[in-house]
Amino acid sequence: MATLFRIAPLLAAPFLLLSCASSSRGPSGGLPRDEWGHRAGPEGFQTVIIDAGHGGKDPGAVSRHTGQREKDLTLDLAKKLQSELRGSFRTVLLRGDDTFVDLDDRVDFANRYGNAVLVSLHFNSGPSHIRGPETYYWRVDSHGLAVRCQRAMASASPAESANRGLVRRRLRLTRNPDIPCVLLEGGYLSHSSESRLIADSSYRRTLARAIAGAIRDQSKHGDAGTGPLPAPLWEPPSRPTDAPE
Ligand SMILES: [Zn+2]
Repeated sequence: MATLFRIAPLLAAPFLLLSCASSSRGPSGGLPRDEWGHRAGPEGFQTVIIDAGHGGKDPGAVSRHTGQREKDLTLDLAKKLQSELRGSFRTVLLRGDDTFVDLDDRVDFANRYGNAVLVSLHFNSGPSHIRGPETYYWRVDSHGLAVRCQRAMASASPAESANRGLVRRRLRLTRNPDIPCVLLEGGYLSHSSESRLIADSSYRRTLARAIAGAIRDQSKHGDAGTGPLPAPLWEPPSRPTDAPE
């Protein structure tokens, strides 16, 4: 018993820090952390956590048309997005170089922040005829941001038919963070002309600018103009054993 009493204050310290973070609200509003996200989307948030998908030993998709690796393209897009958001938000890069970060560690990292959103950046791969951006979300409070990001990426794409729309899917980076979170697929590396487009740095800049505009609009207007909120889903956090991500 005596040992337990001695350990207790040590254990309590990190939880105190966490509870401060979880109830933090910025001066102009924003949402504190919430494990389910069954609420309206955020307005007035000040922090954007930018996650460059894959990295290190995990290259992600590799284009057979250009040889480019998803992990390099997402890192470049993340840095471009960070520079586009500079001045409007505090931005945090979840990885700033070519390192591997486990998905659960990415979630833990995002959960340190309140009054923030998480944007995870990826590029897609699939059958060779499919192209266009696609946005994944799961939480109700992420729907508005997902709609805005998808619209912005589709309008940045020069192909009229290039819009794969929204997909509501329970992934570790769409279900498990305690803050609004979306996973963006900026186009298909498996499509010959789209992969060449994505290989062009100026197109990635256009894409970053479009996504930054969507994030800014969400912070300014909340969910206004993004359509009705989806129904809450009561499903447990996503586990590594669920499905490939
Ligand atoms: Zn990916």
